[in-house]
Amino acid sequence: MHKIIHYRNKCIGCGVCHEQQPVLWRMSKKDGKATLLKSTGKKDVFILSIPDALVVHSQDVARACPVRVIKIL
Ligand code: SF4
Repeated sequence: MHKIIHYRNKCIGCGVCHEQQPVLWRMSKKDGKATLLKSTGKKDVFILSIPDALVVHSQDVARACPVRVIKIL
């Protein structure tokens, strides 16, 4: 099992993650930043376990983030 880590406080709200992977990402109407759906968060760091089938695509999304605030473990 892999994990997505989202350092949300540094998200600039560009929307790329949501465009590329809407199944996992939504843009918040409140503050304009991305929200990692179904993740658990502590302060500004959010974590979601993902099945193997989503890993490669998630790595692509992480690379596409312009400020690199998405990590895959
Ligand atoms: S791609 Fe990165 S900066 Fe852009 S909305 Fe997603 S997490 Fe935020």
